Amino acid sequence: MEYEAVIGLETHVQLKTKSKMWCGCANEFGKPPNTLVCPVCLGLPGVLPVPNDEALRLTVLTGFLLNCEIPRFAKFDRKSYFYPDMPKNYQITQYDKPSTLNGFVEFEFAGGLSRVRITRAHLEEDVGKSSHFERTSGVDFNRAGVPLMEIVSEPDITGADMAYEYLNALKEILMQGGVSDCDMEKGMVRCDVNVSVRPKGAKELGAKIEIKNMNSFSGVRRALEYEIQRQIEVLKQGGKLVQSTRRWDDEAGVTDEMRTKEHAQDYRYFPDPDLMPIEPAEDWLAEVKSRTVELPLARKQRFMRDYELPASDAQTLIWDVQARIYFEKVLSLAKDKKAFGKPIANWIINNVRAKLAEWNRAVGANEIAPELQDNKGDATMFKTFDDLKFTPAMLLELVALEDAKTISSSAAKQVFAGMFDTGKSPGEIVREKGLTQVSDTGAIEKFCDEVIAANPGPVSDFKSGKAAALNFLKGRVMKLSKGNANPAVAGEILERKLKA
Ligand code: ADP
Ligand code: MG
Ligand code: ZN
Repeated sequence: MEYEAVIGLETHVQLKTKSKMWCGCANEFGKPPNTLVCPVCLGLPGVLPVPNDEALRLTVLTGFLLNCEIPRFAKFDRKSYFYPDMPKNYQITQYDKPSTLNGFVEFEFAGGLSRVRITRAHLEEDVGKSSHFERTSGVDFNRAGVPLMEIVSEPDITGADMAYEYLNALKEILMQGGVSDCDMEKGMVRCDVNVSVRPKGAKELGAKIEIKNMNSFSGVRRALEYEIQRQIEVLKQGGKLVQSTRRWDDEAGVTDEMRTKEHAQDYRYFPDPDLMPIEPAEDWLAEVKSRTVELPLARKQRFMRDYELPASDAQTLIWDVQARIYFEKVLSLAKDKKAFGKPIANWIINNVRAKLAEWNRAVGANEIAPELQDNKGDATMFKTFDDLKFTPAMLLELVALEDAKTISSSAAKQVFAGMFDTGKSPGEIVREKGLTQVSDTGAIEKFCDEVIAANPGPVSDFKSGKAAALNFLKGRVMKLSKGNANPAVAGEILERKLKA
């Protein structure tokens, strides 16, 4: 009997807001414990929550980015449970009337496109953080009440690798949409993994097993690889699986059971009487809609289609937002975008980025993840595309000079180094260094005559059929011209003269 896996993910994402969900405390990571707290987020009796409008906007923005419907009525509910890091003893969330519904995420997987349907993305609040020491435990409430969005997928995922690609695609969309920084190290994205197995082709779903609170995508992948195998083994041995919650032990590489699953009625959901329902106005929705960005996948496909970029270059530009913005700036100045896309991308990916990295290494600036490059923090020495001394127009000029064969590709590298160091225009550097490629046939003819006269050996070699001798002679011509002769023209003239 063959089995197949069925997977649905519940992804929690901290929203990029200045303040918390129901109070004015800062939404910041890494501050001393319990310094970003007030009576509201400490859950003291008698306080009133005031919803954070930006968090509502970011949730609806996510809905647009994930192709969701935006219901014109949504509300907040209380989900009751006890946890030491949640002092109210209930979490405010959205139960049966979430802010977004019925979307999908499309992403590249296994050489094609995959689509995972999104059940809903709703808004709730994060809880505090417990730490356990040798003899005591502590709770830090800085994270309590931070706006948290939960994105629930349909059980459309069929394996560990697909789950991994889905999560990466989702993260890229949320980061580029400005919804969240998605910094995994800071726990900004956490995931509950639901997985069952069933006989291949069966209609009915198997018992759902949930692995709680995963904080890395590679962890999700490893946990799924393990758990799918484990479930299949249980069934193969004639065992039975029951709905339950498990924990992933990353070090041991196994999952173990925490509890059999609680049910919705255990939480006694009810509408939060302190909060008004959300009935978004059309102009508010239009304003949020205007914040949508082109999706990373659509942009990649456009780059490949309109500018004939290879998939790898397009992908590099999608991941490196600063490089992509710079690419589009340079390209916007070009007349023939189809012809110039590829060389511009090449210069940016292979030269500009490399030079910036080299510069940053040389001055010892901290390496900063590309997605955080706009936030230079204390690494004041860190150079980005904004710090380039030359202008986008100059990079285009360089590409055009090389394209017109006015300069050779090795001269172009010298010109680029000069631009990077001094900010001078390519034209100026070419003039200063005398780098113009000579395509003027009269000048090249003279070089060829000289070389033929000076090298009777290779000349007779060529005449007796050794084709390779031509390359040697061409090399001499290039040398004589100090590298400025157009090599193709030099080759043609030499061959014509030798065959005459
Ligand atoms: P609950 O109410 O227990 O949270 P939901 O029906 O809301 O369960 O589903 C939670 C997540 O589990 C969703 O992502 C959903 O796609 C997924 N899921 C539901 N049933 C199964 C199943 N049998 N196998 C795998 N995933 C499932
Ligand atoms: Mg759930
Ligand atoms: Zn507060």
